[in-house]
Amino acid sequence: SAEVIYGKKLAEELRQEMKEETAKLAKNGIYPKLVVVIVGEDPASMSYVKGKQRASEKIGMDSDLIELSEETSEAELLNIINRLNEDKTVHGILVQLPLPQQIDEQKVIEAINPSKDVDGFHPINAGRMLTGQETFYPCTPFGILVMLKRANVSIEGKHVVIIGRSNLVGKPVGQLLLNEHATVTHCHSRTENLREHTKRADILIVAAGKAGLITGEDISEGTVVIDVGVNRVDGKLTGDVDFESAKEKASYITPVPKGVGPMTITMLLHNTIKAAKWIEQK
Ligand code: NAD
Repeated sequence: SAEVIYGKKLAEELRQEMKEETAKLAKNGIYPKLVVVIVGEDPASMSYVKGKQRASEKIGMDSDLIELSEETSEAELLNIINRLNEDKTVHGILVQLPLPQQIDEQKVIEAINPSKDVDGFHPINAGRMLTGQETFYPCTPFGILVMLKRANVSIEGKHVVIIGRSNLVGKPVGQLLLNEHATVTHCHSRTENLREHTKRADILIVAAGKAGLITGEDISEGTVVIDVGVNRVDGKLTGDVDFESAKEKASYITPVPKGVGPMTITMLLHNTIKAAKWIEQK
């Protein structure tokens, strides 16, 4: 039966280290600051944003929340981003997605100064990651990489199979692991014979948003299983993997909740500290 990788526990350790780092930075007059912008009142987005703020404050980082109404125009939002880009006390800017229909998400992402793009969604940062340069990596993929490394899972030369090809998770996690010398296969909703692929994985990363998509029958003995999915089934949070059956065959497995989720926010804090160091030490 698999060893369970608790992202939550690892996240707590990393945040403790970050708390010590912000204290050190404060001695040098550097106060990392994250500003989160939310448009509208979607309850899920609201709870993510509150979580990000709470986590920032806990490690001694400054954070601001800008709450805008559902009717905010694209021009208004772009103005606010411009102001934050120019504000020297702000190191990280995060616009919570999704945005209401009247706003072009891509335009907003591209308006953020790449040096403050702690979500790592700006095409400049995506391009830097693609070409193997140091930059802000998207938080969920980055969290997965750190989890694998801290669990001492070897990546180099291994076959990583990813289910999902979104810009948010699937594509960037494949890129990051390719940079670590993995052999990467991307599966998605049009992939034929999915099980043939998942059975050949050394590391299987599931980011489809479909509860129970993967069971023990879909994997081989000894597979490392990372479950990114967050689904609500009968009011309960569950991943994309049937934990009980997969656990019998996997060598390592992440649970939902307490798995990948807490690592995502942790990497956001990491990126904001990094942004502060970059800007202040220039
Ligand atoms: P998305 O809907 O943008 O992408 C889903 C991907 O899965 C698509 O590429 C699609 O082709 C693929 N897919 C869907 N059904 C499939 C199937 N039956 N077989 C094969 N491929 C299939 O979603 P996303 O933004 O990439 O997020 C994926 C999941 O991860 C969601 O459940 C989301 O809530 C979760 N998520 C979790 C975190 C976290 O911090 N834990 C962060 C981001 C997203």
